[in-house]
Amino acid sequence: MNCTCGRLMGIIPIIAEKMVDNVALCEVCHCTEIEKIQHNNNKVCSEMLRKLGVPKQCIGATMRKEFCAFQGAPSVLSGELGLFLLGESGVGKTYQMIAWMRHHIYAGRKVAYVDFSDFLCELRADARKYTNIRSLYDYADVVFIDDFDSSNPYVFEFVYNFINHLYKEQKLMFLTAEALPVQDRLAMRIGASTIQVELIKG
Ligand SMILES: [Zn+2]
Repeated sequence: MNCTCGRLMGIIPIIAEKMVDNVALCEVCHCTEIEKIQHNNNKVCSEMLRKLGVPKQCIGATMRKEFCAFQGAPSVLSGELGLFLLGESGVGKTYQMIAWMRHHIYAGRKVAYVDFSDFLCELRADARKYTNIRSLYDYADVVFIDDFDSSNPYVFEFVYNFINHLYKEQKLMFLTAEALPVQDRLAMRIGASTIQVELIKG
């Protein structure tokens, strides 16, 4: 659509708690309006991330060029595939993952955040609650799992079931972890739905 000034208008998302609206605006004639919308989007998005339990220091994470500097990035940007961010502690995996979370909120997708150590703790406290815990994420289109770890053999069946459930429900998955899973069944599920990217310190 063209503006009355003749320029092609850009599509600007308006983020609200329950939905994302898109409006066509001209970046010259409507620049103050665009600025206002972007400022508000930022605020609403940060508030959503806070409510979802994202670590405070990552709430402001925004997408950078270098976060998309891997092969296959367009299919992650478009929401076709998820991402498995791999690397030792302190390389900024969670920060990058939250930037992707923000990206998907802007694209109008429903997102959920799973602190995986909390997930395991709740599971160990009462494994009978597993299906309840699992169903907490049913609403989401994209599930972001922070600090994924499948090394504990006592909870492996639950961990596999959780990932397999997300896979079958065709949820997009984003994970951060220090290592790739060693169990074939799990590695296959994760490999089929994510691109693996290793982050290196420095
Ligand atoms: Zn214009």
